[in-house]
Amino acid sequence: MAANPEHHDVLVVGAGFSGLYLLHRLRQRGLQAHLVDRAPSVGGTWYWNRYPGCRCDVESMTYSYSFDEELEQEWSWSARYADQPEILRYLNHVADRFDLRRDIQLETSVTAARWDEDASLWRVTTNHGEVTARWFVMATGCLSVPNTPRFPGLDRFAGAWYHTAAWPEDGVDFTGQRVGVVGTGSTGIQTIPQVAAQAEHLTVFQRTPNFSIPAWNGPMDPAAEAARKAIYRETRATARRGPTGDIWPESTSTALAVSAEEREAEYERRWHEGSFSFLSAFHDITTDEAANETAAEFVRNKIRATVTDPAVAELLCPYEHPLGTKRLCVDTDYYATYNRPNVTLVDIKHAPIEEITEAGLITGGTEYAFDSLIFATGFDGMTGALLAVDIRGRNDQSLRDLWAEGPHSYLGLTVHGFPNLFTMTGPGSPSVLSNMMTSIEQHVEWVDECIGHLSEQGQTTIEATPDAQADWDQQVHDEAYATLYPRAASWYMGANIPGKPRVFLPYIGGVGKYTEICADVAADGYRGFVVA
Ligand code: NAP
Repeated sequence: MAANPEHHDVLVVGAGFSGLYLLHRLRQRGLQAHLVDRAPSVGGTWYWNRYPGCRCDVESMTYSYSFDEELEQEWSWSARYADQPEILRYLNHVADRFDLRRDIQLETSVTAARWDEDASLWRVTTNHGEVTARWFVMATGCLSVPNTPRFPGLDRFAGAWYHTAAWPEDGVDFTGQRVGVVGTGSTGIQTIPQVAAQAEHLTVFQRTPNFSIPAWNGPMDPAAEAARKAIYRETRATARRGPTGDIWPESTSTALAVSAEEREAEYERRWHEGSFSFLSAFHDITTDEAANETAAEFVRNKIRATVTDPAVAELLCPYEHPLGTKRLCVDTDYYATYNRPNVTLVDIKHAPIEEITEAGLITGGTEYAFDSLIFATGFDGMTGALLAVDIRGRNDQSLRDLWAEGPHSYLGLTVHGFPNLFTMTGPGSPSVLSNMMTSIEQHVEWVDECIGHLSEQGQTTIEATPDAQADWDQQVHDEAYATLYPRAASWYMGANIPGKPRVFLPYIGGVGKYTEICADVAADGYRGFVVA
């Protein structure tokens, strides 16, 4: 441990969308901020996830920064949904454009952080030694710790295996290979058509089928881009006010109040619009089981109409969870991929993977042989990256212990007993249920203004009260249980990680409502916090 650790006003962990913007804001305010990231590059999730087919399934003209009008006007996206290399280029451009790199230290992993009561600062341990900071911001993302299930025998597999979230930087050529993919969430659904087009044979191991809506991706139309740029301020404001952080219209009708023909027509219209707008076709899709079933059956019929083998189509039809309660997927040619002669779908719900062998894997007593195996098996969502660091607050209280039965927070941003710690897009905030960009900018601006306000007032600590936190935990729970979401064994519920507490993690009350609550808390002198 260094005798005199390097000191910063603010230490930010994570060089993704959130950390980069926060660094920019804090520096503009004259604060001395420092950003660290374990990766060798900026980019956060867009650095690590580089699997074939990786792209954002939220439209790039909304999944991009809105804080700088020149950047917004000058940057051109090449497609409706940009792919991973383009998003990574954008983030690198932002790092250069705002001269952020001089305060960024890469290949630096934070392993522990301890609140020093006497000095009122955080002591943060990294692989390069100790750093101290008045304010400590975990901008580590919601989906940063990959989940690789402990299949017995994985270490004896003779071929190559990959997790989609730790993809080799140089890419992988599957030409002529027999490839297996485990996992059919958003990632699997993006990568399966791409790998199928290259491999000699692809076998997909599906535990739970998912609902997927077509992206209708394509090159950016210059006229459409110019039209959107002309009204960028309005659309950004719309995104911030609405529930999803995006700009499609929310229906005010209920699915069962309209005729079957009207309902089908609306689903058809939304289907052809593409992406998550489908979930907003009727306002009760996520709250009423019968309404939800109409949307679910519409998608199942699309699957049946696309996939030529009826048995395969039926296997792809989700029945287990209401539509949307596991994150809706957005695809390019996903279902049609199963019409290819070189693609096989294997159900592992009823015959789980027994073991990995030297040649491949065994399920239902059958061995499948591969050259390569791909795990698109997701993440320890929302809490994984926060709990990967041994964070200790007042009285050496461990965050891991405090959250052993599920997270507690005030506004999804702060935790009682952990002064001056901010968890960007943390559990208890809308984050993953919204266009992340809208939620990230809202959090960055709130945290920056909070730190700025306190610094101007000569105040050095802010801490959530136990009552405010308990009340927020209750609101997060109540909002979730007024919907169908908790019925799914989803990663939103922590259900994908063995032993993880089953608690609905994000705040489902909507971005607009949440933003108003946060603004009101600040305007009311940081109600629910003790400021000293
Ligand atoms: P995921 O949604 O958690 O899907 C993981 C898949 O692996 C599921 O099909 C799961 O089956 C399966 N799986 C996990 N453990 C398994 C096991 N032990 N045996 C067999 N199958 C197993 O993960 P993801 O697809 O990586 O997506 C996670 C999130 O990342 C998304 O929901 C989304 O928020 C984000 N994402 C975003 C984009 C984008 O374009 N913006 C793209 C990709 C991902 P079960 O369903 O049965 O658990």
